[in-house]
Amino acid sequence: MYGEVVEGIEPHVFEDALTEIKAARGVALDTDLTADDLKELTATFKALANEALGGEWTSDPREQLHRAVNAVFASWLNPRAEFYRRANGISRNLGTAVNVQQMVFGNRGETSATGVCFSRNPSTGAKELYGEFLTNAQGEDVVAGIRTPRELSEMEEVLPEAFHDLLATMDKLELHNKDMQDMEFTIEDRKLYMLQTRNGKRTAAAAVKTAVDMVAEGLITKEEALLRIEPSQLDALLHPGIDPEHIAPVIVKGLPASPGAAVGALSFSADDAAERGGRGEKVILVRFETTPDDIHGVMVSQGVLTAHGGMTSHAAVVARGMGITCVAGATGIKIDPKGETVTIGDATFGKTDTVTLNGSTGEVFAGALPLVPPALNEDFETVGKWADAVRTLGVRANAENFEDASKARELGAEGIGLARTEHMFMVADRLPAVREMILAENEEERAAALAKILPMQQADFEEIFTAMKGLPVTVRLLDPPLHEFLPNLVEQSLLVQKLELTGAPADQIAAERITLAQVNRLHEQNPMLGTRGCRLAMLYPSIPDMQARAIIKAALAVLEKEGETVGVEIMIPLVSWESELRIQREIVTKAVEDEFAKAGKSLPYTIGTMIEIPRAALTADQIANQADFFSFGTNDLTQTGIGISRDDAELGFLGEYVEDEVIEKNPFESLDQEGVGQLVKMGVEKGRQTKPGLKTGVCGEHGGDPDSIDFFHRAGLSYVSCSPFRVPIARLAAARAALKNK
Ligand code: PEP
Ligand code: MG
Repeated sequence: MYGEVVEGIEPHVFEDALTEIKAARGVALDTDLTADDLKELTATFKALANEALGGEWTSDPREQLHRAVNAVFASWLNPRAEFYRRANGISRNLGTAVNVQQMVFGNRGETSATGVCFSRNPSTGAKELYGEFLTNAQGEDVVAGIRTPRELSEMEEVLPEAFHDLLATMDKLELHNKDMQDMEFTIEDRKLYMLQTRNGKRTAAAAVKTAVDMVAEGLITKEEALLRIEPSQLDALLHPGIDPEHIAPVIVKGLPASPGAAVGALSFSADDAAERGGRGEKVILVRFETTPDDIHGVMVSQGVLTAHGGMTSHAAVVARGMGITCVAGATGIKIDPKGETVTIGDATFGKTDTVTLNGSTGEVFAGALPLVPPALNEDFETVGKWADAVRTLGVRANAENFEDASKARELGAEGIGLARTEHMFMVADRLPAVREMILAENEEERAAALAKILPMQQADFEEIFTAMKGLPVTVRLLDPPLHEFLPNLVEQSLLVQKLELTGAPADQIAAERITLAQVNRLHEQNPMLGTRGCRLAMLYPSIPDMQARAIIKAALAVLEKEGETVGVEIMIPLVSWESELRIQREIVTKAVEDEFAKAGKSLPYTIGTMIEIPRAALTADQIANQADFFSFGTNDLTQTGIGISRDDAELGFLGEYVEDEVIEKNPFESLDQEGVGQLVKMGVEKGRQTKPGLKTGVCGEHGGDPDSIDFFHRAGLSYVSCSPFRVPIARLAAARAALKNK
């Protein structure tokens, strides 16, 4: 290890020599070699090392120690550390530290041993014995997977005093640290030494269960429990499992190393997995054993399957930490990494074959098994309730159909913060009517197209309002980047040319030419900064008129049918000037009042705006004159505030910026608090100067990001709105923000 880690000699140099001498002696295990064999091997190692280094390597212990210390510091900048930090949002500027400890030996015969253990089960959270050990071994042997370690419970028989000492020490360490501990120990001649303890990495399920259990045990308070669970981790709990009704046979079984279900095509190297997974392909990484160098492949895989290694092997620990399904130590598989195949029983699988992993049972199946939504348990509900009791920030969801809205409500959303109406238009059978509306040559044509769309919109709204009855729903009026609805300019030009060249019927050519002319007329260089949002509504007032009518008709219909409806909030997007909002407000109010008059009924409603253009934030005091509420569109506010295209930047320079630490985080993922955040703060303050207590929300993607949520809490916003599956994360993050900023 010194030669490899400190001197940088290829590990196979030593491995090969070791394998050779074991073969020569006819033994399988390192520990079967005699003292004389080891003496001989040591001489060989020294010769090989000198050869590799091109000189005499130092045998001065002080010099070796210094070199070892330097190697630890140098490891801070190795590619795997860089990758890990990037994946976990850790700055490279933090630096690292080195501990120097006296050595104890677990390989002094059968009365010595080494192992790893947890004070609770890190997969499930259950308070039970969890760990592995090996007699006559050093720590590296346990994690390297060369010898298969034994279950900790078996240690009671082999080394009873040390075993009971260990149990008592585990309890003590857990009590002292008030958290689940992950420990390494060595036993030298029956005496127990603790090498290390730290708060254990755990699955989301275990995080929730241990937190709830520890509150019940009186070890921690509810507030501490909430601070203990990483919000982003909850994601894993919300992922699907394998349909229990399935009848597929198990082809091989390994250890249930990281829970959840994963379906994907096989990949045989981390680089291949990184490449294919990065492209969006669903892959399962199959390895004899994973090492930290595989981390980039593990991260983008659906799941990991290994032939070797225990529950505490690297693959298992990394996958659990990342919430990636893992089946480890499936000894029944034979991998041919060069040929890129794996043989399980009589069957051989290659890169194009799909398998399903059950990380909760260790089972592996051929093909893609059906998955079912996760069953959320009582502990999860308990934590959610605790979070709701301490948070001051509201949590709503972004949803625009019945399923998503219902899901959001089930997960604890207190309303819909953003229903994007253009998403309702991006449905194949509706597109023709939407195109007609956009391409209409005159108001008459447009009115005809809108008449077709109104009932569809009304039906959409009725669905959402039914799912959310009793809660507020913010419906945003149309905000389409026009190009998303239109034929592509280049393709349409090519089509016309092709028709001309192939002598297509004249009327067909004429029709396509008209479309081309229309597309050309509406073509914009920067559609994201073009005729979007209220700008389109300013040009064509009949669009907001239709939408307002559809909303009110739907609300009245749901009230009639269900005896209850939603809090109707109509939102105008992409406003820059107060005058835009004043004009749009008039159009919407007129349509709404007209529908009330026709129905002979009315209901409460409000009209607000999105703040997603810097000018709107800067003039929020004026805009507030016309608005009953604000909702910050932090996606567009990031785009326009920083001056970067949300369509292009992430694929272009922004990724490099994050990689090179020019900036800390992708501002589309986590709010740029120093820059764009100022616009949000100013918007809230100025808005409330005009209207004290003005309701302010956030509906950009940042509404589901824990760090951003902390900022929104501090900025005094009323609520965040995020995608349905992020609602539990947002509830917990909001509670933690309240606790941290008390
Ligand atoms: C936003 O800009 O943050 C927003 C929610 O609107 P959209 O993403 O639809 O532009
Ligand atoms: Mg927007």
